[in-house]
Amino acid sequence: MKIDAHIHFGTDPNVASRTMVPYLHPDRPESVIQYLNEQGADIGVLWSHDRIFSPPWDADYDKQNMQVGRAVNQFPQNIIGVARINPTFGAQHTSDLLDKYKSEWNCKGVKLVAGYDFYRPNDMKIMGPLLDKCEELGLVVVFHSGDAPRDLPSLQSEAAKRYPKVKFQFAHMGMHAFLWEAIIAARDSANIWCDMSQAFTYDIAIFIEEVGFKKLVYGTDAPYQSPRVESQKVIDAIPQVDQQRSIFRYNAIDLWGIDKENQRA
Ligand SMILES: [Zn+2]
Repeated sequence: MKIDAHIHFGTDPNVASRTMVPYLHPDRPESVIQYLNEQGADIGVLWSHDRIFSPPWDADYDKQNMQVGRAVNQFPQNIIGVARINPTFGAQHTSDLLDKYKSEWNCKGVKLVAGYDFYRPNDMKIMGPLLDKCEELGLVVVFHSGDAPRDLPSLQSEAAKRYPKVKFQFAHMGMHAFLWEAIIAARDSANIWCDMSQAFTYDIAIFIEEVGFKKLVYGTDAPYQSPRVESQKVIDAIPQVDQQRSIFRYNAIDLWGIDKENQRA
């Protein structure tokens, strides 16, 4: 069984004309289970759509995060919930949100897209208080990676190096253009993993050659990408079945600290 470490809970219907997984919808928690079943997965790491919804506005993503929370509470064995966070709202606001998410739906991580929220991932005035809180609550930090000038692995790894006890997932492994920044980051820091969603097949092969197979996790970036395409890229890039198994499942168990008693692992 796979673990899909990168799922969005639907998208903004006012912006997207179509997606690859149209039935995935935040009003229907069971649609996440349907999506996991469709690809032979039993656990998914879920967060909201990346952008602020337009309209209704949800500037700090709280409404979207609570939709993720409802799905987690309905299917706690199958869904690991992550909160989309804009840290520019200030240390106290972020800390209050994360305390609420932790207590109300056992939030396991934060998703950050610096380009959408206008800050730098290596700006410790913004990132320091957030990462302190992530360390306190044991939250994994997911960075969107691969878009200049803000969502760059080179900037993100500066933050990761300052917080060696916090685990990081660099989504899209630098999105092709910044593949080597992601390779260097994951090679040099024990606390950085990458997910291969939206990456090129030969980028995955190069990453494995340079970093090894233990630092890569499987993710689909649903609903924007098809699970059949993302899954096939791993199989084509990596012939060794034991390495495929690590990427499809066991590396995510390490990164997300999946508890075999609470989660079906
Ligand atoms: Zn994504």
